[in-house]
Amino acid sequence: MKARKYFDFEMETMNREKLEALQLRRLKYQLRRCFQYSEFYRQKFKEAGIQPEDIRSLDDVVHLPFVTKLELRDEQLAFPPFGRHAVAPPETWAELHPSSGTTGAPVNNLWSFKDVRHISRWTARTMWTFGVRPGDIIQNGFSYGLWVAGMASHYAARELGCFVIPIGATDTERQIDYFIRPGSTVLLCTPSYALHIAERLKQRGISPEDIPLRIGCFGGEGGAEVPATREKIEKGLGIVAFDYYGLAEIGPTIASECPEKAGIHWVEDHLLIEIISPETKKPCAPGEVGVLVMTHLTKEATPMIRYWTNDLATLDKKKCKCGRTHARSVGGILGRSDDMIIFKGAKFYPVQVEKVVRSFCELSDEFCIELTTEPELDTDLCTVVVECLKEEDIPKMKPLLKNGLKEECHVTPEIKFVPFNTLVPRLKSFVTDTGNIKL
Ligand SMILES: [Zn+2]
Repeated sequence: MKARKYFDFEMETMNREKLEALQLRRLKYQLRRCFQYSEFYRQKFKEAGIQPEDIRSLDDVVHLPFVTKLELRDEQLAFPPFGRHAVAPPETWAELHPSSGTTGAPVNNLWSFKDVRHISRWTARTMWTFGVRPGDIIQNGFSYGLWVAGMASHYAARELGCFVIPIGATDTERQIDYFIRPGSTVLLCTPSYALHIAERLKQRGISPEDIPLRIGCFGGEGGAEVPATREKIEKGLGIVAFDYYGLAEIGPTIASECPEKAGIHWVEDHLLIEIISPETKKPCAPGEVGVLVMTHLTKEATPMIRYWTNDLATLDKKKCKCGRTHARSVGGILGRSDDMIIFKGAKFYPVQVEKVVRSFCELSDEFCIELTTEPELDTDLCTVVVECLKEEDIPKMKPLLKNGLKEECHVTPEIKFVPFNTLVPRLKSFVTDTGNIKL
């Protein structure tokens, strides 16, 4: 059993035609039950002039209205405590997992008993894909409690038949103690916390080779897919590091990397993924960056139909080298749509600047975008500040970087070079809403 490559061979390698037929069947069922049992959805569909029967293909989903977080908050204020989008009856409810509430009142999300089973299974599938096997000792450093990742990972560990240490996001010394005894082999936590643990491990004079830790599953914030960060974590802890993604309204571990590290695979048997242009609200072309919009295909308690996440990504539906057919977002989550910069009519995202900067080995991974006004000239300025590793490369890098940014972002910013190690590492600015960890 340990040698098995896939956790669920049939589902993970199902050809796209069959997978999309399954998605359509599940979507039609979900829409019917939302229309039948939820006044919230019935009202929304009626306002959009749509009946569930009008959705005959997956492409027809574009006719359905979006659901936003703001709307869910208003709904729960008007119909407390859960809103009228709680579709399943209360006797089926198993757990409450509200959103963090860092940007307003938390949104209450419910998991039914069936939802818990699905979440446990797909999280176990994710961890199997990372290489976790029965016999592994899983140190679950995700915060337990209301946040979705802690509980889901715990259930998944049980599903996998693994020994789990439910340590949560506790103090770093204890995390390291458990690496030594009983000798955890798998670590689950946020990437910034993993870096912090690695630093402390070094300070305690413990070599990564002296602990049995072998796999790291990192989520809750970006970072694990940033090459420089991944390398620091892998070397610092002596592990292979993987990225996964989830959000309270949709669920934990809904996308994760495979050993090819070619983007995060979505659990497409449970979710319908769309990439929508934040400006036109129409589907993006393949490979184009847009907002992730998700529809629950199997969620029972509080299903989301076309939930507008504000998170940016691309989508690739081609079969991966790992043999899995479920679509991938290459590079993971690329930022937030509210990070959009408008400069002299051009619209671009920091992630596009990052892509260009990191394509040059002469530059460090760090950069900064400065937007200022020049009062004397009465003009706005956009300056990209970068670190050149060798001073002598600056003259040749200036035009190269300018051209690269013009091509990618359709803007011609000023370029400013500063000495290496001047810019504050981006990772330090991550503040997680997922635990107690702040660096
Ligand atoms: Zn893959």
